[in-house]
Amino acid sequence: MGQITLDHVVKRFGHQEVIKDVSLTVEEGAFVVFVGPSGCGKSTLLRLITGLEDVSEGRVLIDGEDVTELRPSERCLAMVFQSYALFPHITVRDNIGFGLKIAGLPKAEIAAKVDEAARILALEDYLDRKPRELSGGQRQRVAIGRAIVRSPVAFLFDEPLSNLDAALRVQMRVEINKLRDTLKTTMVYVTHDQVEAMTMADRIVVLNEGRVEQYATPLELYDRPANLFVAGFIGSPR
Ligand code: ADP
Ligand code: MG
Repeated sequence: MGQITLDHVVKRFGHQEVIKDVSLTVEEGAFVVFVGPSGCGKSTLLRLITGLEDVSEGRVLIDGEDVTELRPSERCLAMVFQSYALFPHITVRDNIGFGLKIAGLPKAEIAAKVDEAARILALEDYLDRKPRELSGGQRQRVAIGRAIVRSPVAFLFDEPLSNLDAALRVQMRVEINKLRDTLKTTMVYVTHDQVEAMTMADRIVVLNEGRVEQYATPLELYDRPANLFVAGFIGSPR
């Protein structure tokens, strides 16, 4: 579960073609990072996968099923937003369970799922606090908790660490790696930070102006960059 395929995907905003014929497959259980300079189309590609944007051409498949016409809620994916997307006026418990409440799940089931997510994320002692009573890293874990309780086939992260300080970023990278080892769920992770990409990914998609320049393991990118753009971006000595 959790294989994601983009098949000749094109996205236009007006006359501007921001995603240009992208085809790639994220394998089940893989941790794939989309990396590239600001404005190259990383967020748009993620939003096309989740269905928050419609493709102009091409198809999106999840586990071989064409989901191009499905709404975001029907795609069994979870987008992890930055920690500032938490609701400030409700507790951690209610923040984590919010989506399940909206979906109409019974209270007992919500409570069980929230408790399990809190255990995985070591948030058990913080469930009755409000977001402002948490550290930046704890808030980020609450944001991840909101995704976990929905049992998605894949997690999609859009620069989740970009508003955390450097030390916390390193700590959260380790935590996301641990999460990935625990859940073994497909993860697609967007960043403009090469170091984050190189240290977290099984495979990296290097994007430039809406095109895939290379899709390879960190080692392959470092040893055999496909072109000067990739070499320059990854910081290879060549
Ligand atoms: P990244 O996440 O890599 O920084 P984006 O995917 O946000 O890049 O944006 C890619 C391009 O698409 C940019 O030129 C951006 O201005 C444009 N774009 C993104 N969303 C919209 C939109 N809703 N309407 C018009 N243009 C957009
Ligand atoms: Mg972006």
